[in-house]
Amino acid sequence: MASVRSALIIGGGVAGPVAALALRKAGIEATVCEAYPNPADGIGGALAIAPNGLAALDVVGARDAATDTALPIPRSALSFGGRLVELPRLADLPPMQIVHRADLHRALHETAAGQGIEIQHNKRLVTAEEDATGVTARFTDGSTVTADVLIGADGIHSTVRTLVDPDAPGPGYTGMLGFESVIDRRVAGEPGTMFFTFGKRAYYLYWPLPDGRTHWGANLPQDKPMSLTEARAVPTEEWLRRLHDAYGEDDPGGSLVRHIDPERLHVTGSLHIMPSVPHWHRGRLVLVGDAVHAPSNSSGQGASLAIESAVEVARCLRDLPDPQSAFAAYEARRRPRVEGIAARAGKINQAKAPGRLAKALLPVMMRVLLKTAMKPEKTFGAEQRYRMDWNEPATLVSA
Ligand SMILES: Cc1cc2nc3c(=O)[nH]c(=O)nc-3n(C[C@H](O)[C@H](O)[C@H](O)COP(=O)(O)OP(=O)(O)OC[C@H]3O[C@@H](n4cnc5c(N)ncnc54)[C@H](O)[C@@H]3O)c2cc1C
Repeated sequence: MASVRSALIIGGGVAGPVAALALRKAGIEATVCEAYPNPADGIGGALAIAPNGLAALDVVGARDAATDTALPIPRSALSFGGRLVELPRLADLPPMQIVHRADLHRALHETAAGQGIEIQHNKRLVTAEEDATGVTARFTDGSTVTADVLIGADGIHSTVRTLVDPDAPGPGYTGMLGFESVIDRRVAGEPGTMFFTFGKRAYYLYWPLPDGRTHWGANLPQDKPMSLTEARAVPTEEWLRRLHDAYGEDDPGGSLVRHIDPERLHVTGSLHIMPSVPHWHRGRLVLVGDAVHAPSNSSGQGASLAIESAVEVARCLRDLPDPQSAFAAYEARRRPRVEGIAARAGKINQAKAPGRLAKALLPVMMRVLLKTAMKPEKTFGAEQRYRMDWNEPATLVSA
């Protein structure tokens, strides 16, 4: 029988509201505290939700809301060295859905609020102290909130991670900066297909939209990471010049860049991947989502894994007798899966931003990448077919 009755969730992105919904379903009262005044605050671009993420959203009844504004992508193609290859997919699964990060945050907030879950904004966590009876979080505005457990869903630059372990690693930089834009014309391809393109100098992707426009995204190699504020301080003309240098000779990359409306070029920020985090929990504190397992944008699984972990931590808190055994069971279930997916994404990142050695090996790497992508069951089967049985009691399992 679970002893936990209340949970404080830090972060109202993706994992936070989903954890709150799952905890409520488990009979545990949850409050979400988010640092910003609005969901996502206009930050970030388009996110993919994979079939496994959709299934986890089903558990908490948030799938319809989360995909209301989403675009299904049933097909994908890989292009490199002048070759364009349509990639096979797991045809019996629903297609992945592309949704704007801010829309997803908003939809999850509304679903949680609709179920009576309290989401407090302008609440930036500074620290937390625990004793035998509970954990008290302190915020920059001087206020405090107390609960039985604290769940850190505060993203890749997590504060809770350093409260769990002051020596926890920070995010690793992939050597790339993300850009996005919606271009007012169709340059190539048909709607419903996402094109992953390794150009002459850099990687980009695009997907034609049903209304005749094209959604474009670029992963521009960049030696040093930049904060979003630093990247946004660079004049748009300078970014366009650099994007033109990187993609100008590519087809259709050059044409896409030439047609970007400078007003609609968005820098989405430095792209990161979380290395393995030694401690996922301590005492009454636990981590979920990007705070503990950001697998980088190359996996297409960041949001989906965050949703899965949010549901799993609630299931373990429901069924195990105390926070420590619940968090141990949660980590044992999640760690192998999320670290395996991050390892796959890490290999793709090497091809997107190759070092000197990797550059020489690039043709071989691309052939390997293509070969694996042509075997979708082997490559993505375990990833995308993953389903959690909410009704099955969670038990302690060894890691
Ligand atoms: C700036 C940014 C842009 C992104 N853009 C993209 C993108 O374009 N495409 C893509 O696929 N993925 C993107 N991602 C990644 C994607 O959003 C995550 O993989 C996914 O949302 C994981 O969900 P999460 O809830 O773990 O983290 P997040 O969605 O990042 O949510 C974390 C939340 O915690 C809040 N928070 C942080 N610190 C505190 C604190 N101390 N106190 C209270 N609240 C706090 C944040 O404001 C945020 O709302 C982006 C992430 C970030 C941070």
